[in-house]
Amino acid sequence: LKETVPGSSAAADLRINIDRLMARLFELGKIGALDGGGVSRLALTDEDKEARDRIVGWMRELGLTVHIDGIGNVIGIRAGSEEGLPVMVGSHIDTVATGGLYDGSLGVLAGLEVVQVLHDAGVTTRRPLAVAAFTNEEGARFAPDMLGSLVFTGELSLEDAYDIVSIDGERLGDELERIGYRGDASVGGLAPHRYVELHIEQGPRLEAKGITIGAVTGVQGISWTEISIQGVSNHAGTTPMRFRRDAGYAACVIGSFVRELANTIGGDQVGTVGSLELHPNLVNVMAERAKLTVDLRNTDENRLQKAEAELSAFVDRLAKEEDLKIENRKLARFEPVEFAPEMIDRVEKTARSLGLSVERLPSGAGHDAQMLATLCPTGMIFVPSAGGLSHNTKESTKPEDIEAGANVLLKMVLDLAS
Ligand SMILES: [Zn+2]
Repeated sequence: LKETVPGSSAAADLRINIDRLMARLFELGKIGALDGGGVSRLALTDEDKEARDRIVGWMRELGLTVHIDGIGNVIGIRAGSEEGLPVMVGSHIDTVATGGLYDGSLGVLAGLEVVQVLHDAGVTTRRPLAVAAFTNEEGARFAPDMLGSLVFTGELSLEDAYDIVSIDGERLGDELERIGYRGDASVGGLAPHRYVELHIEQGPRLEAKGITIGAVTGVQGISWTEISIQGVSNHAGTTPMRFRRDAGYAACVIGSFVRELANTIGGDQVGTVGSLELHPNLVNVMAERAKLTVDLRNTDENRLQKAEAELSAFVDRLAKEEDLKIENRKLARFEPVEFAPEMIDRVEKTARSLGLSVERLPSGAGHDAQMLATLCPTGMIFVPSAGGLSHNTKESTKPEDIEAGANVLLKMVLDLAS
């Protein structure tokens, strides 16, 4: 049996096998594949279960001990030469309904690739290694997003998480049970020594500058609100404008206000109305009910709070002016997170040592890493997204960029675990 000593030059020369990693990415991408490309693997659906089964199978093939915790997080452990806290890598394998092959899956599968390289080279690290796939990162079926890692850190109780109801009316605890992933490993029983997540950027910055690696400085704060508007349905032809209590009109006005709000707050502020439902949704009937969501994000907590306050004041005013009943429900709220400087430096230095171009940037999207950052020093490695596209079936990243990112991950794991 070949044996490579961690910290030796032979260990420093180890590289990931990009063909093997791409093959796993494409194989996982077949589960929930959409006609014409992309993938739909909403959390705790049959497709999610099948993908989980595949990940667990690969973990076992690689000799990992698999733990499934109470919220369904899948964690594969590789023993080190000493006991102690593991160096953890990972991400998620659930997707939005019209997702791509790389968001989340890359971090989990690159983790497995790192383990395979160490396995084949006969490397035993000093610390144990953990590869994690966290439950429901996307939040597309159950809000909030980053739910599995949130429960992992203890900031959301298992009981509260189980009672969350999906957009299709199912209780989270029941769905977890149904797909067989309500595990018995204690949640958060495996606090890591360090956490590193490789992820696609999901934005245009790296590609635009021709940079291969992003050393992520932190994650912007996220505020999700669901706004439900109750008005009165009436005839579109006979009801004079001044007598209308039109929920559809109010929803449209809020949508346009969110754009204005993002522009006036300025800086990194972004605002999106991504979901809008009207009832009864007919051409000649004013809507009796409207439901929409507002997604506000900023790297600056004060500005994010200002945006939330202005939205809320606007909605109150609108309810009075239009004689409507409007209710707000918070779906998710996370403050901005800054990653440990030690870990940002480490991503940067590791990329340079491999001869790769690297730049610091904040993440516009939420990630499991922002939750793990409350438990241990945490870092994130970004690789470019072609055309800046993500949460899109056409999402892609060049194999050479994936290879570069996965090699940064491999080297960081070796350094952190030795
Ligand atoms: Zn993701």
